[in-house]
Amino acid sequence: MSLLIKNVTAITMCEETRVLENAYIATRENRISYLGTKKPEGTFDEVIDGHGMVAMPGLINAHTHTAMTLLRSYADDMNLQDWLFQKIFPFEDTLTPEMVYEGSVRGIKEMLSTGTTCFHDMYFFQEETAKAAEELGIRGVLCEGITDPVLEKKIEKTEKLIEQVKKSEGRLQVGISPHAVYTCNEDTLKTCADYAKKHGFRIHTHLSETKTENQDAEKAYGMSPTKWMEQCGLFDNPTMAAHCVWLSDEDIAILKKYDVTVVHNPVSNLKLASGIAEIPKLVNKGVNVALGTDGASSNNNLDLFEEIKLTGILHKGTSLDPTMLPAWEVLKMATINGAKALGFDDLGMLKTGYLADLILLDFEKPHLTPNHNTVSNLVYAVSGADVAYTVVDGRIVYCRGMQKPKFLSETL
Ligand SMILES: [Zn+2]
Repeated sequence: MSLLIKNVTAITMCEETRVLENAYIATRENRISYLGTKKPEGTFDEVIDGHGMVAMPGLINAHTHTAMTLLRSYADDMNLQDWLFQKIFPFEDTLTPEMVYEGSVRGIKEMLSTGTTCFHDMYFFQEETAKAAEELGIRGVLCEGITDPVLEKKIEKTEKLIEQVKKSEGRLQVGISPHAVYTCNEDTLKTCADYAKKHGFRIHTHLSETKTENQDAEKAYGMSPTKWMEQCGLFDNPTMAAHCVWLSDEDIAILKKYDVTVVHNPVSNLKLASGIAEIPKLVNKGVNVALGTDGASSNNNLDLFEEIKLTGILHKGTSLDPTMLPAWEVLKMATINGAKALGFDDLGMLKTGYLADLILLDFEKPHLTPNHNTVSNLVYAVSGADVAYTVVDGRIVYCRGMQKPKFLSETL
């Protein structure tokens, strides 16, 4: 299996090269075998003329609940506690494996068609999501959502999942997901921490999403959710914490100390009126920040380019500083920072030897011209609908396949 993309503008996400015009990108098997401006030697199974297109590493959706596409537009304009306890949890009590498979297929198709090549999932019946991911060719880290009081069963399911993903050629991995401090008691959190340590897994959790979560933790444990998770030993494992909207300076210092990655989900946080995470402060303190869509029930789509744009403008607005979080830094959050957080040292950049996960965007569309600055256009003007090809492990897994749209003036 080999692929050559020629004559393309490549956004490498490497600090040294950043943007390569008229580039060739070659892949052999599942790796990038060449990136440069000279035509590489040899023949290729597939050749794409990248004229008018931009290539960049595939996006990494670092926090989602893929099968929640089933709940798109099911409960809107509600606060998180009512939304969760009155609408979402009762619906989820009726979930079947078949429903999760259907929702996962829909969600993975949506991610691939909007530029996401790797997703970090937390949900139920993850064996069904694994099946859908394997069929559609996406990369992913799958975590069975763990809440009280059925811990043993969930650990058993995780063990089965580990066996199931062995046939995915490394594209699928498994993590441990204690849902949050308000749905997991002390025993559950400690068991998850120990299990992750024993098997070398990463932790995927929700942290300080709402003010209520913090107030309840103070009442129950006399400390913040961050401190409580530290005390329960979760952060002794590599951890990705979604949201982190309500952090004190002391909490931020704890996250930095344990190298916890914060996953910023600005659309979900705004829609549920949970608040705005202090991302510039976290970045200044050296905390790794990645981006996530959260589930389609609180977003209501899985187009990570929306998170990219929102992250690029939201914190400028709240800080009254237009230089805050420049476009390049935001693109890093959606690519290399997510890869790092998931434990990859060969993903998130276009670089020889790296995994061949990349996307091609159609830059000849009216809203992307003129193109004074490709990185800026990727952050402030692109949408997921501009993705023309998605490649995972050197395989084309999505191609828009539509003829160029024609306008009335061209046909008259
Ligand atoms: Zn979530």
